[in-house]
Amino acid sequence: MHVTFFGVRGSCPCSGVEYRRIGGNTSCTLVSVDGELPLVLDLGTGMRALGDNLRRRARREGRPLQAHALLTHLHFDHILGLPFFAPLHDPGARLTVYGPPQERQHLRDALASAVQPPFFPVKMVEFGGEIDVREVGDQEGGPTSEADGRGFTLGRISARATRVPHPGNTLGFRIEAAGKTLVYLPDHQAPLDRETVTDGVRDLCDGADLLLHDAQYSDDEFASKPDWGHSTIAYALRVAAESRVRRLLLFHHDPSHTDQDIARLLRGARRLADARRVEEVSVASEGSTVVV
Ligand SMILES: [Zn+2]
Ligand SMILES: [Zn+2]
Repeated sequence: MHVTFFGVRGSCPCSGVEYRRIGGNTSCTLVSVDGELPLVLDLGTGMRALGDNLRRRARREGRPLQAHALLTHLHFDHILGLPFFAPLHDPGARLTVYGPPQERQHLRDALASAVQPPFFPVKMVEFGGEIDVREVGDQEGGPTSEADGRGFTLGRISARATRVPHPGNTLGFRIEAAGKTLVYLPDHQAPLDRETVTDGVRDLCDGADLLLHDAQYSDDEFASKPDWGHSTIAYALRVAAESRVRRLLLFHHDPSHTDQDIARLLRGARRLADARRVEEVSVASEGSTVVV
């Protein structure tokens, strides 16, 4: 499993020399497994560059793109790249999106309502390719999802969606292929005490080879934004330690954190990782690839 980052920033894209090393695009990651369709994690602004990359590949192969995407939730930073994903303008292209059920309408309609005038000049249904949207994961008191909450398969990749604490219906995903496990948890509200981990999250992360986890705040920042929906770096380490995760990559960086800030935060995280016995902690950066 190869994991390539096209956007690692949380909340809002940012640009400038001070962000050059980590990158300023919002959440979008490509998971590549030999012989399987490309699997995209979230549709943030990094999806524009990913689209250029996948379109070149599809054209070399002489056929329109076929791909899957796992969508954690509908906040802007996780969907803004979708209309700029160039392969979707090729007739015959198909992107199947798996995401959380919504309260009053199907996820398909909720997504389409954000990709239409006056927000975007073209309606989603007018794209040359097709976007097939399926609901997965549970919704409290809501309709049963098409995949009935938990497991579903994408070729030889198996995936599981679990609802996680964060405003709105938000999912985390566990992805397993070729004996390896990746867990994707980009937006995760830490509890006020920053000590308890929900059973659902612990179960989702259990024994994973790689965890991509919300690392938006330092402890001081969390103190002034305790209910903004995110984790501290220390809490990401707690989740990793309690779930016996082998390798943690800090993800969904705050747009105010410069390269220098993130380097300093990582030094602190590594000291804490030793104390908590997490084997490896590092930082997800745009353009890098990790092999699981
Ligand atoms: Zn986010
Ligand atoms: Zn969010």
